[in-house]
Amino acid sequence: MTGHEIGHYVLKHTWSGILFFAVLAMVLFWLAEKLYPRFARAFGSDAKIDDPRGVPVLFFLISVFAVAASPFINTFGRTLETQADMYSLETENRPDALASALVKTAEYRYPDPMRSRSSCSTITLPSNGGSGWQWNGRPRIRTRPLRSDQAAEVT
Ligand SMILES: [Zn+2]
Repeated sequence: MTGHEIGHYVLKHTWSGILFFAVLAMVLFWLAEKLYPRFARAFGSDAKIDDPRGVPVLFFLISVFAVAASPFINTFGRTLETQADMYSLETENRPDALASALVKTAEYRYPDPMRSRSSCSTITLPSNGGSGWQWNGRPRIRTRPLRSDQAAEVT
């Protein structure tokens, strides 16, 4: 797991995250400015976007944006996690150690999302069967050790 975390550092994932979320925020703020008047009218409000009376409409828009942006956010997170896993496998060359660590991590995260203790990992997309990914953006913990085992067979 240390190799995985070092991978995040070496691959500059923090900077990637800052850039990704900055661009996403700009897009969402732009959309909020454009769509706010229509939604305010639809909810029967005459408040402008800078009026505190419009905050509930703005929160509604933010909620819609959060749901709409979640596939992009999850794809971004999953890509970085996979890159960090691959960095660990390539530089450490100890796939059994990574697989073992991921199995231990599964005890915390629970591979079965319906039984999860962590609120952020309780939701799994029903249409997600077999893709190996979990709703919270991390690769499904059940398949991460398998990827390590596959890498062990290759190396
Ligand atoms: Zn990670």
